[in-house]
Amino acid sequence: MTHAELSEASASALVGHTSGADWLARYSTSLMGVFGTPQRVLVRGAGCLVWDADGKEYLDLLGGIAVNALGHAHPFVTSVISSQLATLGHVSNFFTSPTQIALAEKLLALTHAPAGSKVFFTNSGTEANEAAFKLARRNATGLDGAPRTKIIALEGAFHGRTMGALALTAKEAYRAPFEPLPGGVVHIPFGDVAALEAAIDETVAAVFLEPIQGEAGVRPLPAGYLRAAREATTKAGALLILDEVQTGIGRTGKWLASEDAGIVPDAVTLAKGLGGGFPIGALLTFGEPVSQLLGAGQHGTTFGGNPVATAAALATLHAIESQRVLDNVVAVGEYLRAGLAAIDGVTEVRGVGLLIGFDLDADVAPAVVTAGLDAGFIVNSPGPRTIRLAPPLILTTDQAGAFLAALPAILQTAKDAQ
Ligand SMILES: *Cc1c(COP(=O)(O)O)cnc(C)c1O
Repeated sequence: MTHAELSEASASALVGHTSGADWLARYSTSLMGVFGTPQRVLVRGAGCLVWDADGKEYLDLLGGIAVNALGHAHPFVTSVISSQLATLGHVSNFFTSPTQIALAEKLLALTHAPAGSKVFFTNSGTEANEAAFKLARRNATGLDGAPRTKIIALEGAFHGRTMGALALTAKEAYRAPFEPLPGGVVHIPFGDVAALEAAIDETVAAVFLEPIQGEAGVRPLPAGYLRAAREATTKAGALLILDEVQTGIGRTGKWLASEDAGIVPDAVTLAKGLGGGFPIGALLTFGEPVSQLLGAGQHGTTFGGNPVATAAALATLHAIESQRVLDNVVAVGEYLRAGLAAIDGVTEVRGVGLLIGFDLDADVAPAVVTAGLDAGFIVNSPGPRTIRLAPPLILTTDQAGAFLAALPAILQTAKDAQ
């Protein structure tokens, strides 16, 4: 290749073109089997649409699992990322960069963080929760000096797949092959205030909660639960750590799903939507004492908070704000939930904003995913009779309406396939 050819080459020119079936055969030869067989080979996206290697178009109602907040190939985000990469891409954490500092300030402002609050950047949600787990361990001697070994999480919780985050995750099938996991984590019944109050004492370092359990099928915590958790943890000197990796950054129509509870947690973890598709996560600590728990040298990352990732997040937050995307999330979310509730065979609709779960009257959710793809819609089944939608926050009412119109036939096809 000449220098000119190299400077113009795209990734698709580097890898070439072939059919979806051929790509998948090559996938199974060279990629580890942890994800099973991918559903499609996707090659291009624009807004809420994506196209596969065979040219078929899909309405993306999953958004890369609540990641592509502004859809695919958003021109502003793309331009900010490209120009940052062309200016300064990586510097290591021996140095900082203006985008890193500006993003930390922006996140603390959007979350109304009190004075003394701080940010630690990561590359993913599980890493943000690892950092939070280490923060909890530093509460081992307590803000009050008491020894603390226990961490509380909920049944159904999903906090990630690395060892610390996996210890917080409840699902036995994910945990069992990797035991022993970091100790001291106790899982208590979901949404049960009495169980929570009974579990919290002065040996508890932290309580980890998702305001809405995403992987468990979009299960919101009952009203009042977060407030009760705040009161009980404050009383016992335990940290209240909210995992908003899936629910944060506008997914529910608010910057944080926990906003409505009117509480200040000790820490919040973010990732998924934060970079608009670019990998970035964050741990936010609220107020001075908890923000001092991880001292110099006690945690680190090579890539975390790099100039490109933080520029991507700044661009995403700016576009969400300036294009009034949160209003769209509320309006289209309400429209979708009302439409879903009126469909035959849908027995329950849950969620807030554009994080939506609905249950079916039969165990056909995986077949609905397949029938949906054939009909040109990407959805997800977190359980045998549950469908999850986490589309780009810019989904239009027309696009949501197209899915609602197609869903009865998709459900019928799925049932016929059983
Ligand atoms: C996805 C998710 C994680 C893990 O994030 P990764 O970026 O996949 O590591 C953690 N917590 C919640 C609530 C999630 O939805």
